[in-house]
Amino acid sequence: MELGISDKVKPLIAAVQSMVNDEIAPLWEEYHSEVGKTGDRFEYTTRMTEILEGLKVEARARGLWNFWLTDSAQGYGLNTVEYAYLAEEMGKTPMGPEVFNCSAPDTGNMEVLERYGTDEHKERWLKPLLKGEIRSAYLMTEPDVASSDATNMAMSCVRDGDEYVLNGEKWWASGAGDPRCAIYIVMVKTGDDTAPKHQRHSMVLVPSDAPGVKVLRAMQVYGHDDAPHGHMHIKFTDVRIPVENLLLGEGRGFEISQRL
Ligand SMILES: Cc1cc2nc3c(=O)[nH]c(=O)nc-3n(C[C@H](O)[C@H](O)[C@H](O)COP(=O)(O)OP(=O)(O)OC[C@H]3O[C@@H](n4cnc5c(N)ncnc54)[C@H](O)[C@@H]3O)c2cc1C
Repeated sequence: MELGISDKVKPLIAAVQSMVNDEIAPLWEEYHSEVGKTGDRFEYTTRMTEILEGLKVEARARGLWNFWLTDSAQGYGLNTVEYAYLAEEMGKTPMGPEVFNCSAPDTGNMEVLERYGTDEHKERWLKPLLKGEIRSAYLMTEPDVASSDATNMAMSCVRDGDEYVLNGEKWWASGAGDPRCAIYIVMVKTGDDTAPKHQRHSMVLVPSDAPGVKVLRAMQVYGHDDAPHGHMHIKFTDVRIPVENLLLGEGRGFEISQRL
């Protein structure tokens, strides 16, 4: 396996490096000092939007955009090793990954939508994510179970006619504090305990504004809330989604995670 810097990625590394060093990093302090000026730490000030969106327009115009979709005909054409070199550079400043539309959790979520979403899901959520117009979150971890083993997830998801009804709580949902976060990919329990352990769970798409979704609070990491991105604690009370929002099939949640 070739782990060095390929000729293909060399000029991209240089271009990303110079944009990070000369244009993005120098604006970070000003951007960060704006957080909370409106009275709401999860709201963007005009200046924050100006800085972030201005940099994104510039990166996109230079073709430095969406490097993350590796080994796919629709991607940038890079492999995972090549992408790793770019990720290293983009991650040298907190705003870096988003400027190039390569930030977590959107990259993984876009990959799920690209590989397992229907045409309708792609139109509604993948397209605006690829353009950097909306953001997303991945909701797996739950307060009541040891979540380092994902087979413990307990959020209930019960079919009722043409809908699924979701009840339970998720926390540490990174990016769910961002007012632009429009879509959650949620790991839920659809099978009972008689099913094999890795076939009890499914992934479903839940719009962040679905009735019954309530963001309870921002979690803190060593006293920081990471606003306006946030790691949120979210409660689901009788949240209804159409059955079409189930990805791949009931009981196939782990199959999605393990195939990516
Ligand atoms: C900054 C941040 C961002 C995050 N973002 C997301 C996100 O976007 N989406 C999301 O879903 N989650 C997110 N998480 C949550 C993260 O994935 C979980 O915290 C992690 O999976 C661990 O689960 P837990 O907190 O339930 O810990 P637990 O599973 O309760 O583990 C606690 C401790 O017990 C140990 N332990 C657990 N089970 C066993 C066992 N059987 N035997 C021995 N030791 C054991 C663990 O190693 C650990 O040391 C985030 C967390 C942080 C801190």
